[in-house]
Amino acid sequence: MFPNSVRRAAVVAGHHPFIVGALGTLLAMGVLGVSLLTLVAARATAIQHAHETSRNVAAVLTSNISRTVDAADQSLRLLIAALDKPAVQHMGADVRHELLFNATATSRYVTGMGVTDERGQLLDGCCSSTHHWNFGDRDYFLVHRQSAKVGLYVSAIYRARSRGGIEAMALSRRINGADGSFKGVALVAIDLEYFRHLLDGLDVGSHGVTAIVRTDGTLVARNPYLPPALSPNFNKSPTFPRMVNQDTGFYAARSSTDGVLRLYTFQRVPGTPLIAVVAPALDDVLASWRTLSWIVGASAFAISIAFCAVVWLLAFALRDRALGEERLTELTQTDALTGLKNRRALDEALQNEWERLQRNDSQLSVLFVDADHFKQYNDKHGHAEGDKALKHLARCIAQCVSRRGDCAARYGGEEFVVVLPDTQLKDALRMAESIRETVERLWHTPNEACSAALHPFTVSIGCSTGWRGHPATLVELTKAADSALYEAKRAGRNCVRSAGQAAAD
Ligand code: GH3
Ligand code: MG
Ligand code: MG
Repeated sequence: MFPNSVRRAAVVAGHHPFIVGALGTLLAMGVLGVSLLTLVAARATAIQHAHETSRNVAAVLTSNISRTVDAADQSLRLLIAALDKPAVQHMGADVRHELLFNATATSRYVTGMGVTDERGQLLDGCCSSTHHWNFGDRDYFLVHRQSAKVGLYVSAIYRARSRGGIEAMALSRRINGADGSFKGVALVAIDLEYFRHLLDGLDVGSHGVTAIVRTDGTLVARNPYLPPALSPNFNKSPTFPRMVNQDTGFYAARSSTDGVLRLYTFQRVPGTPLIAVVAPALDDVLASWRTLSWIVGASAFAISIAFCAVVWLLAFALRDRALGEERLTELTQTDALTGLKNRRALDEALQNEWERLQRNDSQLSVLFVDADHFKQYNDKHGHAEGDKALKHLARCIAQCVSRRGDCAARYGGEEFVVVLPDTQLKDALRMAESIRETVERLWHTPNEACSAALHPFTVSIGCSTGWRGHPATLVELTKAADSALYEAKRAGRNCVRSAGQAAAD
């Protein structure tokens, strides 16, 4: 049914079940390993993908803020340039207010715009020319008064004096006199609500966070919203210096606020101290990967275990089969009564050795061993005792013929044959004599066949030796041994004769 190569492989596998099992296990482990590596790679890809998404979100956020800052800066420049013009300076206060500030008042989050004198006193601004607050204590006023080189300044967060104390930031520029002296500041106030609104539109997962942070560590806006009392100062965070010192970056860290592990991507808004932060939670990023891991991991594990089990079962089944076949072969080659090789095995061994003899320069000897007067023995003690005597004879032969490659077999009835490869005649005769002597000697020592030990039990042995080309055939060689046995019988039994020896005697 199977090709020979498959049968041969099955036999080899049957003889090495542990190697087959180990190879199968190794293969299963390999498949499991590849699955795990694939999952590890998929995890890295999920994190990489989250990083790319976060980078895009941060870029959109930054560009929105940038646009607003640029627009505010443009307004400030125009305002300062307009204030410089004599025509504007000579306008009536109401007309000037209308001209310079009304456009700003329409913007939703840019809720304040104004100009102060060199003491911080508000000269004019939206939303009314009648407001007279003093901003001399504000950081932006102090910074501009201190230095003429600040340019556009983004202030710290403060509570507005107008608009019911709402949280806001100011973008400001210094107003210089003709001689470069400090003449006040022009400012645009932006409500923090503007930043919160920007963040509201972004979705970074249920446990994710988006935020805008100032380089001094204060939180400008955060989604989800965090009350100011709970807002941490990022200045104390060990990762914060990285945000301050780089324009963009990516790192994973556990939040000091809620302990959630997040993947932080940050990007600085150019020309400002504002940093846009997008931080999806690692658990959210890996949610679908985890589901996939469970499915793939559990299936790969189950399949590997099942594969191992099948391979080991198969390996042991093949081993049992190989052992069974070996046992069967052994049985078909063994004589049931004596345990020596049977006639079939003998013929095979003789043929093999004869063929081998024709290929080299050694000698092959054959012994024919025959129990003497065995018919009488049977007649006197019965067949059961006769069988015991044959077993005794087989044991004696096996005891003498122990060299590897020699073959002792029952030829039939009370006749046995010993095949002795690579054996010269004189050594074969010595072996034959040893068998004859052992049978006679051990017959008289206590053994299971000795109930009839009073009756003598001896063997006669005929011996022949051949070499390449002599005799011409195997049949002639065995015939010669048989003839020698006949000579031994004729010579009175219980003796050894070799082919041609009778003529010599
Ligand atoms: P010789 O010395 O010339 O060989 O005389 P012999 O009696 O041994 O020779 P013969 O061929 O006349 O008798 C062989 C006997 O061996 C006859 C047979 O009953 C006996 N025999 C053959 N096979 C078995 C066997 O398996 N068991 C027993 N108990 N006897 C067997
Ligand atoms: Mg006999
Ligand atoms: Mg006989």
